[in-house]
This record gives sequence, structure tokens and C-alpha cells, in this order.
Amino acid sequence: MNDDIDPTMKKVFKHEFLALNNYQLIGKDLNLSEDELRQHYQHLLEWYWLLLQNATKITAIGDINQKKLFEAFEELERQKAILYQSSILDYLTQVYNRSHIMQLFDDAFAQTKRYQNIFSCILLDIDDFKAINDTHGHLAGDLVIKETARRISGQIRETDAFGRYGGEEFLIVLPNTNAEEARQVAEKIRITVAETTIGEQNLRVTISLGVSDTLIDAPKTQDEMLHKVDLALYKAKENGKNCTVTYTP
Ligand code: GH3
Ligand code: MG
Ligand code: MG
Repeated sequence: MNDDIDPTMKKVFKHEFLALNNYQLIGKDLNLSEDELRQHYQHLLEWYWLLLQNATKITAIGDINQKKLFEAFEELERQKAILYQSSILDYLTQVYNRSHIMQLFDDAFAQTKRYQNIFSCILLDIDDFKAINDTHGHLAGDLVIKETARRISGQIRETDAFGRYGGEEFLIVLPNTNAEEARQVAEKIRITVAETTIGEQNLRVTISLGVSDTLIDAPKTQDEMLHKVDLALYKAKENGKNCTVTYTP
């Protein structure tokens, strides 16, 4: 048998080579000579071997492509998550932006109607914030907004939703919480904000808060409930700021 045949090929086609060596067994009845037959058979094996090698190559290329495809898919998913996060978060404070907190507020209201559970909301606004901007500049103002948001985040539950409602106004949605419980949370937030200083300039701010729930005066729509909590906040400002007011009809 030809000695320059690939040893692996010999191993793979062990039985075929055995048969090839034992050429008397094959082709007895054919008109071809033994040598011709042997040559034909060997060519056939060589073609088959080439085919096998190509198939292995194709599988390997397929594996690489599949890995690349998987990596690209993972990257796409990662980018999608980043995009989604940036679409629901407020750039300055990294809490929910207005559209998302409003969406969550609407969702909470719809759920309340459907399952007859309750929820509360707190609307809060930094007191005399214009003076911070005017005295210390817009950047200091930004820092105050950011730090106030951080302090509020530290005082609420994971199940509560918290977002920036406007410039220096924030909205908190507290599921399965009545107005009295929400008022206690609001007071905790108010005291925390009032007691801590912000930045190197040790700025101090206070906040006013309005509270309402889905039971008081049974609001029929989200807008009605928002209007009520807004009235409560307005009352807190009227009462001299740095306080919490629960809406009363
Ligand atoms: P009040 O106690 O009644 O709430 O008085 P206030 O001075 O806080 O009044 P108001 O709510 O009207 O003022 C809000 C100011 O916040 C007006 C606006 O220029 C400023 N502001 C809004 N968004 C931003 C912001 O992203 N960064 C900064 N630095 N200032 C902002
Ligand atoms: Mg204000
Ligand atoms: Mg305001």
C-alpha cells in the first residue's frame, strides 16, 4: 500500500484499507485488473477523506460564526438595556424621569381600580430653590437637586417608585400604603433632607411635601389624584414650607 498516505486517514479507513490489501476479495468478477481496481478504490478513499476534512472545516467555521453571532446578540441586548435605562431615567439625578414616573403612577391607579387595593403618593418640592441658584449658581443648584434625590431614595422602599416630576419637584408612588403611612415616610424624608448639608459649601435646603391616597375623597382619575396631592403641596408652602400636608377635601 502507498506509504505516503496520511496516517490518520489510514486509521479512519482501517477496514477499507484492509479490504484494499486483500484485493482478491473485491472486484473478483469485474473486468478491471487488480492494479486498476486498487487505484480506483484508493482514489475513492482519498476523495472521501477530503470530503470529511472539508466537512470538519465547515463545522469549525460554523462554530466560530455561531460564537460571533452569540456575542453580537449579547452586545445588542446590553445596548438595548442601556438604551431602555436612559429612556426611563432622569439624566441629572438618575431617578425615574417624568414620563416614566407618570407611567408608573398611571399603572398603580389602574391596578387600584382593578384589584381594589390602595396606594399613596407624595409630591415634594425644594423650598426657595431659586435663591440657591441665584446665590450659588446653577451648578450648585444642580448638585442640590441631585443630592436631595439621593437622600429621598435612601428613605423609601424598593417597591416604591420615585421620579423627578419637574425642575426641583419629585413624585413618589407608594403601593399598598395609606395616607397616614405615607405621611410618616414624608416626614422621615423631610427631616433627613433638612438635617444634612450638601457639597463643600455645606448648603442646606428644606422641602415641602403633599400627601394623598386613593381613599381620600375617592379620586376617579389619575389627574384628579395628582391635582389633590398638588393642592396639599401648595398648602404646605402656604403653611410656611419645610412641612408635610395630607390632602383633605
Ligand atoms: P418655593 O419655595 O415656592 O418652591 O420657591 P422656589 O424658589 O423653589 O420656586 P420655584 O419652584 O418656582 O423655582 C424653581 C426653580 O428651579 C426655577 C428654575 O430656574 C430652577 N430649576 C429648574 N430645573 C433646574 C435644574 O435642573 N437645575 C437648576 N440648577 N435649577 C433648576
Ligand atoms: Mg421650589
Ligand atoms: Mg417647583
